[in-house]
This record gives sequence, structure tokens and C-alpha cells, in this order.
Amino acid sequence: MPLFSKILIANRGEIALRVLRACQEMGIRTVAVHSTADADLMHVRLADESVCIGPAAAKDSYLKMSAIISAADITGADAIHPGFGFLSENATFASMIEEHGITFIGPRPEHINMMGDKITAKKTMIDLGVPVVPGSDGAVESDEEALDAAVRIGYPVLIKATSGGGGKGMKVAFNKDELVQAFRMARSEAKANFGNEQVYMERYLRRPRHIEIQVLADQHGNVVHLGERDCSLQRRHQKVFEEAPSPALPVDLRNKLGDSVVDALKEMGYRGVGTLEFLYEDGEFFFMEMNTRIQVEHPVTEMITGIDLIKEQIRVAAGQPLGYTQKDITFKGHAIECRINAEDPKTFIPSPGKIVRYHTPGGFGIRVDSHIYQGYTVPPHYDSMVAKLIAYGHTREECLSRLERALKEYVIDGIKTTIPLHQKLIKNPDIIEGRYDIHWLEKNLREEDEIK
Ligand code: ADP
Repeated sequence: MPLFSKILIANRGEIALRVLRACQEMGIRTVAVHSTADADLMHVRLADESVCIGPAAAKDSYLKMSAIISAADITGADAIHPGFGFLSENATFASMIEEHGITFIGPRPEHINMMGDKITAKKTMIDLGVPVVPGSDGAVESDEEALDAAVRIGYPVLIKATSGGGGKGMKVAFNKDELVQAFRMARSEAKANFGNEQVYMERYLRRPRHIEIQVLADQHGNVVHLGERDCSLQRRHQKVFEEAPSPALPVDLRNKLGDSVVDALKEMGYRGVGTLEFLYEDGEFFFMEMNTRIQVEHPVTEMITGIDLIKEQIRVAAGQPLGYTQKDITFKGHAIECRINAEDPKTFIPSPGKIVRYHTPGGFGIRVDSHIYQGYTVPPHYDSMVAKLIAYGHTREECLSRLERALKEYVIDGIKTTIPLHQKLIKNPDIIEGRYDIHWLEKNLREEDEIK
């Protein structure tokens, strides 16, 4: 079956370049779309064609469906890769593209919808036999309902937005005095961020790890999992560094969880790449949500499986069968990814600006996924992540030592970055031992502040 002749990349920055690289290796021509603030992006320079789709504000460019579809029409692109963020989990966008006879490189719109609504996602997983975090039965609409649900769930509780994402719209309440205010705040934050004030409640777990399973499915009913990623190192519910495999998960549990996820997705008839996110505490797993797109941290899985997830995503979108089964997938070595943000490493205040000196690390086992270069100006309008530094080693120990020397080699001058934070983290005994949960980093940062 022929693959696509031309793919439009409906994203920016690092992931747009990552997709472009995969297309070039596959002999597929590329169209870059960009805002007026992004004409200098690396992938815009490297793409076969580029189209300016609007002003800097994302709502007028990267989120503007009509502009993107027009760009695809004009350039004759036969598929669109949405990357992550922006329109990547927008079922309306996926349907509109398909109505134009263009392939959306992602799952079916109904699966995007099903998983985009977190209440429906949890219900679906319960029906498919996947364990979920105990919580309210669906949406919680009033103060009274919230108080009742909290008694049933048990304090502390977490209030979450049904349409949430990026850790926004989440509030913890430790007792009933805190609950009403937290509930009202979560609703107004949800409304402001997602245009939907609906929230639901979950038991707030005290020391879980965030463990997610990568899946890949073709259009012929074949589904495999590519193991787990441990993304427990977080600040404000945002991942800071990720690793595969998890230092805390026994292999038999990985296989068991992976198999149950594969069974569930087969039953759903899912296609494309996807990630099921779980909390893991005391040997138990609880499903939180599913992302129906490629994720930022996909490279750590690629490093230990040798599978190029973007190429696979393109192949299955074109209708090709996987061509391998679960038993063909093997896990080798260890990989860690550091998200490098243009931020002050202590205050986390964004630090856009011009990069005056740039030198990337290299050598055996080091991979840098980044769009920045010397002379590039990081615009203030978008996410602050500017690079992903990924280290691979035969063992976790070797991986950490490679990361240490690569972080030392990395020069990004002119803006502040979170490199110093990563340098400090990987020398911490808890990180070296792999002993950390989702609350570890915030607690650690708080304690540092108190010492000062
Ligand atoms: P989002 O879509 O906003 O990223 P998630 O449901 O993926 O929201 O949760 C993000 C993070 O919030 C998780 O990785 C975890 O650290 C924390 N979290 C979510 N649910 C719970 C819970 N029930 N108890 C404790 N922490 C949680």
C-alpha cells in the first residue's frame, strides 16, 4: 500500500521538527505551517513548502482549523500530522480533515472524543476491566454533591476538570472545610481554561508513581504495547523528566498491565499511537486518562525498543499492518529524558529571548530533540520547552552518568534554562536510587526554599 506523498505538519517547535525528520527519512514531502512569530523555526527552513497561517496568538494560527485545512488544500497535502497539544486531540478537527479527503494521522474521531472527556474515559475503562482511581460516579455539579462524594471517597480528594489537560483545573481538599472552596475554584478554572466547568472527583493518592503504557495499533486489529514510562518527577502536575523502564515496576507487573491494556484497546477497535496513564501505589494500578496522540516523552520508549514511533504512526495511518506482534518487542537498556525549558531554574519564570551561543552535547548514547539554534529567538507566545535531552545506557547507572556529562556539555547562552535543575536532580541520592513519587520534586523544592 502506498504511503502519503505529502504531509502537512500542524504544529511548531521540537515536535514539528521530529515529524519532519521522520517524513524525510520515509521519502515523504513536507509542508510546514507557522504563525508570523515562527517564520524562523528550524522545520520551516527544512520543509519542502511552508505556509504562514496567521498571527502569533495560537488561537489565530495553530488552533485555527480553517487556516490549516486551507493550507493543506493549497499545497495538495494528503495527510496532516497534528503533533501534540494544539489540535492533536480535537475530534472536530480530525473529522473536518477526513471530510476534505485528507488523512488525519491519529485515531478515529470517536475515540478522541471518548478519551477527551475524562469521565467517559474512566467509564469506558471500567467496562473494559481496567482498574481506575476510585472517585465520584461521573460529574459533580453542586456543593452538596461534592460533599457527599467526598464522604464516600474519603479525604483527601482531588477535584479534576472533565476536559482538563496539562495539570490545569485540579484542586486538592484535605477536609470538608477546604472542599467547597476548592470545588468552586476548580470549576471556575476549568471554565476559564477549557470552556467547560464540569468537574469530577477522585481519591487523592499520597505517594503514587505516574506510570504510563505506550500502545500502538494498526487498522487491522493488531495492537501492541511498548512498555512503560515512569513520569513521576513532576512540578505542578507537569512532567520534568521521564524514564523507561520504571525503576519501581517489576517486569511481571509490566507485562500484566501491558496485556490488559492491549486487550482493552483491541476491544475498542483503537488505531494509532496512544498512552494510558496510571497511578501506581503499593503494587496497585489506577487508570487516570488516555492520551490519543504522540507524547512529549515518546523518545525514551524509542530508545529502549528501537521502534520509531512517528514512522509507525504514519505507517498505520496509511493503512499498513504492524507486521510484528507483542513477542517481537524487546526492551533493552535504560533511557531518561530531561525536558529543558526556557525558564529560570529556580523561579520557573519563562525566559524567552535570543540564543547567542549554542552547543549541543553528543557522543554515544546521547540524543537531542530540539528546534533551537544559535541566533534563534525563543518567542514568548508558546510553551517554554526548547529541548529534550535523552540519554541511553545499558544500565540506569550508565544512563545517569551519560546524562551528567551531556548536561555539562550543553551550552545555551542568552536565555535561562532548566539545565541547572536537571544537573542538581540527577545527583540527588533519591533520584539515583529511583526512590521518588509524584510529590517528591515539589516537596524537595519547598524544602530547599525553607533552608535558604
Ligand atoms: P492532565 O490531563 O491535566 O495532565 P492527569 O489526570 O493526567 O491530568 O493528571 C496529571 C497529574 O496529576 C498526574 O500525573 C499526577 O501527578 C496528578 N494526579 C492526577 N490524579 C491524581 C490522584 N487521584 N491522586 C494524586 N495525584 C493525582
